Amino acid sequence: MIAVRLGHDNLTCPELFTLPRGQRLSFYPNAKIAVIDGRSYRVECFPAAGGQGVRFAKSTVEFYDVFIPDPIAVDAADAYAACDCKGFEAHGHCKHLDAAGVISNVLGME
Ligand SMILES: [Zn+2]
Repeated sequence: MIAVRLGHDNLTCPELFTLPRGQRLSFYPNAKIAVIDGRSYRVECFPAAGGQGVRFAKSTVEFYDVFIPDPIAVDAADAYAACDCKGFEAHGHCKHLDAAGVISNVLGME
């Protein structure tokens, strides 16, 4: 008999958030999966000069990179949060950027 493993190590326990502009975010910390308004992304955090990068991958070939400046980094004074999706380029904000802020808090990034 296979033991049933309880815990937060699978897709059964998302953390639920409402983003500043009303979108719903479900984040699965261990699987690193984010679902924003029903669209799922694989989330990958990576170091970036002057801050932190968060990649939202719709697939292996289609992804958006969000940059979150480190507020205490001296050389980040001129840095600003950004995403390379069309929505951010057009409007200066997007759901990826909003979600990245939440996710970075969940994951405890500095
Ligand atoms: Zn975006």
